[in-house]
Amino acid sequence: MQVTPAVQVVPTGPDAGEPPPQSRHIATELPGERSRDLAARRSRAVPAGLLSGADVYVGAASGGIVEDVDGNRFIDFGSGIAVTTVGNAAPRVVARMDAQARSFTHTCFLATPYEGYVAVAEELNALTPGDHEKRTALFNTGSEAVENAIKYARAFTGRSAVVTFDHAFHGRTLMTMTMTAKNRPYKHAFGPFAPEVYRAPMPYPYRWPSGPANAADEALAQLELLIDAQIGADSVACVVLEPIQGEGGFIVPPPGFLTRVRDFCSARGIVFVADEVQTGIGRTGEWFACEHESVVPDMLVTAKGLGGGMPIGAVTGRADIMDAAPPGGIGGTYSGNPVACAAALAVFETIREEGLLGRAREIGDRMLLALGEIASSHDVVGDVRGRGAMIAVELVEPGTATPNPTVTAAVNAYCHRNGLLTLTAGTYGNVLRFLPPLSISDDLLDDGLAVLRSAFATVAP
Ligand SMILES: *Cc1c(COP(=O)(O)O)cnc(C)c1O
Repeated sequence: MQVTPAVQVVPTGPDAGEPPPQSRHIATELPGERSRDLAARRSRAVPAGLLSGADVYVGAASGGIVEDVDGNRFIDFGSGIAVTTVGNAAPRVVARMDAQARSFTHTCFLATPYEGYVAVAEELNALTPGDHEKRTALFNTGSEAVENAIKYARAFTGRSAVVTFDHAFHGRTLMTMTMTAKNRPYKHAFGPFAPEVYRAPMPYPYRWPSGPANAADEALAQLELLIDAQIGADSVACVVLEPIQGEGGFIVPPPGFLTRVRDFCSARGIVFVADEVQTGIGRTGEWFACEHESVVPDMLVTAKGLGGGMPIGAVTGRADIMDAAPPGGIGGTYSGNPVACAAALAVFETIREEGLLGRAREIGDRMLLALGEIASSHDVVGDVRGRGAMIAVELVEPGTATPNPTVTAAVNAYCHRNGLLTLTAGTYGNVLRFLPPLSISDDLLDDGLAVLRSAFATVAP
């Protein structure tokens, strides 16, 4: 029998293995020829429902640059959706992964355990808010970690209801898709959904009907109505909240809201879970966004930035909650893979050694300044918000708060065509979000902001 030779997969790009020069450079029409060839192969091999934000294929990435297979270099304002916080192919991450991969790549922690897993758990137990006794369990993704936080909360409380918020995003698995707020594209056609998931209003300062000053009080009253009067507090296992909502559009709740939800849960024996999958691991200028408000959650979920590009997620929580799950009840074949654990240990080290928490705050200050200037001269910008290296602008019809997804898509496309990788977000698709790697230089950051300035000048003068 004739065997068709497999497609040869080799690292592509002009200088495979070399980090790309740290400058923006558009060398070809976009997408270039090699990206177009890959797009044609993709359309025959990959289902249509998987959408990519950009139409160029990556050859290499490091620092603040993503280089495509045709030699075009883009400034990275996305970090692969808040994942490569310490930089792409970050040297410590690569070195530790390399050493681990040469030693062993997998045994399954449930079969034959190893130190890396324990060390990541120790780090997260020490770094997360609160000095109570903690335990950490590792998983492969953010969704899987959130799912398991629900299992822990249910096992501990003996209750079943889960409360989430408007504009929430918690993942794409059946349970976390149910918890996610937005119908299209996340839920449409994929039901029926998991039972016992309830939704409370999110105090969204920019869009709160009676104004931002009332948002926290009124949202709290609605939460109380939902939990005390409708579900019954003694049926609620947990409340799950992103301290700053990510996919929902970088919605920062009013000061004090997190603390009040925390206290509300404590008074009712409800487990308070912070989903820090997007905000955690230095992104906002603290290790965790909860720290900005000195909030100590019962459980805290991480993923994205945790692995520096490797798939790993974690649930870190009160020892009494985490130890309540029955023996053998939690786990997974790959959960806490040793190479991913090595990457996570390198991420902790890099953030410490390179002072990246401070760097996240500097990046945020620089972005807020530039975006404030853009906002003052372009009335499509309705709101500028965020913390640290997690900043967004919300775009509206001038003079109103009506969402403007059209101009959002146009600014995003202009940026891509001119060498800046940006991402969109938001329930109404009208938010541009910026998540640069903390390894980006000031020069690249400024150049990226200049592209953004000319995007607004061109698309929404
Ligand atoms: C991305 C994200 C998830 C899901 O993580 P995956 O690794 O994509 O499964 C969950 N919660 C939040 C807040 C996220 O941003």
